[in-house]
Amino acid sequence: MALRVIMMGPPGAGKGTQGARLARERGLVRISTGEILRDAIREESATGERVKAVIGRGELVDDDTMIGIVRERLAAPDAKQGFLLDGFPRTVPQAEALDRMMAEDGGGPLLVLDVRVPFQELVRRLGTRRVCEMCGTNADPFGPLTTVCGHCGGRLSQRTDDNRDVVSERLKVYEQQTFPLVEYYKSRPTFRVVNGNQPPEQVAFEMNTLLEDAAVVGAQVGRARLS
Ligand code: AMP
Repeated sequence: MALRVIMMGPPGAGKGTQGARLARERGLVRISTGEILRDAIREESATGERVKAVIGRGELVDDDTMIGIVRERLAAPDAKQGFLLDGFPRTVPQAEALDRMMAEDGGGPLLVLDVRVPFQELVRRLGTRRVCEMCGTNADPFGPLTTVCGHCGGRLSQRTDDNRDVVSERLKVYEQQTFPLVEYYKSRPTFRVVNGNQPPEQVAFEMNTLLEDAAVVGAQVGRARLS
């Protein structure tokens, strides 16, 4: 059965890096709404122009825009083989819309990984994070100090929304608008909490193990629904 995974967690929890690895290993399409929006800004599309200032302030883009983007992306044929959502849903209305999309589409239940990292560590990571201006890949935080992307050779720089003021706004927004999603999902048998405050290899191992376990439970739930 195609895996349908949501990665939850605050900015700086490692969703991008760990999500990319997990998606690659499991053959899932990784859909990062933050990356989709940053591409739109770079391309100066109508959506990009509309969301630029909101992102720059560290606030959330409106639900209708985000639900529209995700609905369209999930309708693409590659997403039918399984997907990993990074950065969506971020509000309860987005989660409700996603549930409706999943119900329309049939298939197994959503597997939810909630990555937890202490506040001070998030601030530290976001303050030192460097991202490629060309391909959007995060620089390896444990790799050599360099200004060149190991992936495509592009220039590494700080994301404009990783500056200190915006980071504190993004963490506040997470606390107020996205953390309540834990309540929304936590009673589901396919919800798992990941300790993101460990060396990356250990986080990856824990994530894989928990996903495996959630997938088994998810398949049982899926079968029970059909019978
Ligand atoms: P990220 O790369 O996931 O940290 O997202 C960067 C920024 O894009 C966020 O701070 C928001 O302004 C915006 N964004 C990304 N995903 C969403 C979403 N699901 N809902 C609202 N805004 C979003």
